[in-house]
Amino acid sequence: MAFMVMVNCPTTNEPVFTGLTVETVHGFEAGTYDHLSFSNCTSCGGDHTWSKPDAFLGS
Ligand SMILES: [Zn+2]
Repeated sequence: MAFMVMVNCPTTNEPVFTGLTVETVHGFEAGTYDHLSFSNCTSCGGDHTWSKPDAFLGS
């Protein structure tokens, strides 16, 4: 089962999907995610930049 990498939208503070998925929790913990960005935030429609400390896993 894959996990969705989520961040809290800085505008609405709601959890939003970054577009990135990982196969395992370990895969996320072992990864390096620094200043990644995504567009069309599902909460506010904006563009956001995020780094690993901002992220958490959804399912
Ligand atoms: Zn947003």
